[in-house]
Amino acid sequence: MLNDNLDMAKLQDKKGFICDMDGVIYHGDKLVDGAKDFVDWLKKQGKKFLFLTNSSAKSPKELKFKLAHFGIEVDEEHFITSAQATASFLASQNPKVGVYVIGESGLVNALHDAGFYIDNINPEYVVVGETRTYNFEQIELAVQLVLKGAKLIGTNSDLTGPSEKGVAPACRALIAPIEMTTGRKAYFIGKPNPLIMRHALKRLDCAPQDTVIIGDRMDTDIIAGIESEIETALVLSGITKKEDLALFPYQPDHILERAADILDI
Ligand SMILES: [Mg+2]
Repeated sequence: MLNDNLDMAKLQDKKGFICDMDGVIYHGDKLVDGAKDFVDWLKKQGKKFLFLTNSSAKSPKELKFKLAHFGIEVDEEHFITSAQATASFLASQNPKVGVYVIGESGLVNALHDAGFYIDNINPEYVVVGETRTYNFEQIELAVQLVLKGAKLIGTNSDLTGPSEKGVAPACRALIAPIEMTTGRKAYFIGKPNPLIMRHALKRLDCAPQDTVIIGDRMDTDIIAGIESEIETALVLSGITKKEDLALFPYQPDHILERAADILDI
């Protein structure tokens, strides 16, 4: 299945590309081999493309600068974060209400941009994303607010995320103490929730059958594509190893060593 020419030709013909970032374009502070060639090819071919990340910590502007640091120039509108998808979903449900946020600037800015304001007393929602500044007082306050009736929202359901030290607790692990203490279950927006995929397809302005999602995780990227009826390409440059595939009840349409394999026929 690896590097099959017919497969690659089919992928090359797609009009829309939804790409995960960590494990596809970079690994922490290291560029994945061929990633710049792949993005240059997308731009040269006039493809519609989006970088879709479950991380809610960084804003599109910060992600743009991160790619620029690798020599990849991409405009802000090519990024969708789980923070933006969360803000857009909450705005469609209940716009202009108060929210209590545990998260970084990427999440706070996305919620502000969507018309929400910070309310630590009687918010409609408690919204949790990844953060490195996480403490007992925040958990305690979130618990009180949820028990008072605030709805509990997680930007994504990832348990772990990459860090320079190996793995780090991600959104689902951080929200777990609030769920356990209150007995309430959080609702998660990022991949694999089809909500973020619909958000991406709308922005891409591309039909699902003309689009492919490229990602390194079976439990977020590939399942998100399958559940949204978008062709899927797994890259082995990140989390998932070839031997892991047998553990999953669903399989990707294509398997590549890295995203730049699409260019090689
Ligand atoms: Mg990834």
